[in-house]
Amino acid sequence: MREDLGVLAWGRAHRGRHVVADPAVRADAGPAARETAKAGGSTLAHGLGRSYGDSGLNLGGGLVRMAGLDRLIAFDRETGLLRADAGISLDALLKVTVPAGWFLPVTPGTKFVTLGGALANDVHGKNHHLAGSFGRHVTRFGLWRSDRGEAGAEIECSPGENANLFALTIGGLGLTGIVTWIEFRLERIPSSHLYVENIPVDGLDAFFDLAERSLDWPFTVAWVDTLARGDRLGRGIFSRASWAEGGGFTAHSGGGPRMPIDAPGGLLNSVTVGAFNRLYRARPGARFQGRQHYDPFFYPLDRLRDWNRMYGPRGFYQWQCAVPVDSMREATRTLLDTVAASGDASFLAVLKTFGDVPSPGILSFPMPGATLALDFANRGQETLSLLARLDRVVAEVGGRLYPAKDGRLPQAMFRAGFPRWSDLEAVRDPILMSSFWRRMTEEA
Ligand SMILES: Cc1cc2nc3c(=O)[nH]c(=O)nc-3n(C[C@H](O)[C@H](O)[C@H](O)COP(=O)(O)OP(=O)(O)OC[C@H]3O[C@@H](n4cnc5c(N)ncnc54)[C@H](O)[C@@H]3O)c2cc1C
Repeated sequence: MREDLGVLAWGRAHRGRHVVADPAVRADAGPAARETAKAGGSTLAHGLGRSYGDSGLNLGGGLVRMAGLDRLIAFDRETGLLRADAGISLDALLKVTVPAGWFLPVTPGTKFVTLGGALANDVHGKNHHLAGSFGRHVTRFGLWRSDRGEAGAEIECSPGENANLFALTIGGLGLTGIVTWIEFRLERIPSSHLYVENIPVDGLDAFFDLAERSLDWPFTVAWVDTLARGDRLGRGIFSRASWAEGGGFTAHSGGGPRMPIDAPGGLLNSVTVGAFNRLYRARPGARFQGRQHYDPFFYPLDRLRDWNRMYGPRGFYQWQCAVPVDSMREATRTLLDTVAASGDASFLAVLKTFGDVPSPGILSFPMPGATLALDFANRGQETLSLLARLDRVVAEVGGRLYPAKDGRLPQAMFRAGFPRWSDLEAVRDPILMSSFWRRMTEEA
């Protein structure tokens, strides 16, 4: 156990002191939680720190870094059922499963997350409209709770055993206990390549129409140029893909270059983003049909390690909403209008429609409709007031924001978006806490 003064969230706008432990085997995770909670007042499991805001931090308290728990426990190559330590990364798993012809049933836009982190945020991917979120593919997991027995103990959770904890741990923000191992079902793939179509769209209606016509494509997503206004509002590039036959099963290889330093003053502002957007739309790949390896398709940002340092020393805010299906066109238009009018620019603006496949997770983020993810360099009050304007649009249509991406979501908005938040508080492990949860539950 040691003190770490500078644990950072991925957005780098939140950082601070923690008492940290790094257990290396599953049996040590519980004791590490107890020790760090004793030293820090409370504690929290930590994966690979890819959550952008404060939901993965416990500022001033304890943190149990789970990435040392990285063993594959069982992998049935006939059925695709896999069991592994909760700290194993998707990156490490894919190197084993892809050569055997299996892929993750759901993957977020980076492979540098742990299984435990994927479960705690019930992550979604480009196939949400058909496959639902990650938790839907989980069959059972081990959960260490401090209030079982004298020194805490591990219990098994599945839809048939400890069902309430199963449902509240999926999307439960790491607060129901320390997840030690996870079992889930992989998806069989015909090769490690996809057939991809990138199609430029000239506005928001074109995006939604194409999304509707592409519902039988397993993977869909769009990049949006947030600087476009008027008739061009929502212009961007729509991508759809399905697994391709033939060509073998090659896993991705090692990482790309790293962003070596915090970009002084930040590289990303409306001028540089504008230039990037023009180049991005004009590049040959903007209109493309053909085969692509899964790595650049699912994980384009993994190519520049530590890309989050591009925003400079003050970091950035991510903001991701889900809005219901009956108001998604209008709400998305108002959101993009608000961003365009602000003069600020989002470097990575991603728009996708969510499907109606339910999650077993009670606090899962996706809802049938659309999701828009934006990020803005942290310019203090100016950025916060833009985000507050975006919040109001989402609140008015009964949408919600994604805690994994958040660093300043107002309490009232969280509670309205996740009305069953108090069910989670009722089963929260008494020694677990996060900075996010403190904000969401503290009495004003
Ligand atoms: C480039 C990029 C793209 C992304 N794309 C997507 C996307 O497409 N879809 C999506 O849904 N998300 C996406 N995310 C968000 C990311 O998937 C989540 O934030 C994920 O939870 C991060 O996992 P982690 O292992 O880094 O966990 P951390 O960020 O360290 O922690 C996340 C949460 O998991 C809990 N936790 C971690 N391990 C355990 C454990 N063993 N037991 C109990 N709780 C635990 C923590 O307490 C915390 O609440 C993206 C993030 C990045 C940086």
